[in-house]
Amino acid sequence: MKKHILYALICAAGLSMYSLPALGWGQEGHRIIAKIAYDHLHRGVRKKVDKILGTQGIIHYANWPDEIKSDTIYPTSYDWHFQDFNGGMSDSAVLAALSDYPKEGGNLFRAMDSLVKEAKACPRSLPKEEADRVRINHTLRFIVHLAGDRYCPMHTAHMDDRGGNDVKMKWFGRDTRLHTVWDTHLIESQGYSYTEYVRFLELKYRHRKKAIEQMTDEELLLHNYHFTEAIYEYQQTWDGNTYHYIYHWHEPMEEQLYTAGIRLAQLLNKIYK
Ligand SMILES: [Zn+2]
Repeated sequence: MKKHILYALICAAGLSMYSLPALGWGQEGHRIIAKIAYDHLHRGVRKKVDKILGTQGIIHYANWPDEIKSDTIYPTSYDWHFQDFNGGMSDSAVLAALSDYPKEGGNLFRAMDSLVKEAKACPRSLPKEEADRVRINHTLRFIVHLAGDRYCPMHTAHMDDRGGNDVKMKWFGRDTRLHTVWDTHLIESQGYSYTEYVRFLELKYRHRKKAIEQMTDEELLLHNYHFTEAIYEYQQTWDGNTYHYIYHWHEPMEEQLYTAGIRLAQLLNKIYK
């Protein structure tokens, strides 16, 4: 029965969908998160995930769920990438979304919970059946990707502007949207390759690893919610200068990436122990 959770999720009625691409952290961001996680996997767990996705496969396939979003393989996976909130919510209302899944505005939390249950039911050795192996493989790809989206501020943003997709702004004179700034522009503004960025983040933030691991899902969700609210608030007073935006937000953005990587490692270490 458990092995059909992914399929049940796939077949679940799709909820409201964005008409614009919602790429999560963009290619570089998802690779950064997956590489940080990979570097923090326990040895046996790394072997296991390598067996499922190929050596360093969690990095190579970190963006696959975005690539197939418009494909017919998983037709309803589009709204697994985000979970919308409203502005000014109470902490208890925000936390309710973790278990009492909202009926509209994305399916990220429900999808993650189901995928993790599915992965935990994975047998110790890979099954002989090709279809079962593919299912286990795809489940892991989704977990790696969605665990990153969870920490992408515009993927837990406001429903009424479609996760910042309707908030227009200029980035070095070019038209863009708040959603895209957080998916890609801010990361790319630093000019690192994903491996360079991981090395840098590791040196800069590794002293925080323990504290990140000790946080509860509830604490992290509230942190993410207030983080996103702070971005909206900043938008009201921002002077429109892109350098000022980068200066103000690049470090908080990096902390989100590092936190996502460490939490993903923690999750995979638990699932595949
Ligand atoms: Zn995504």
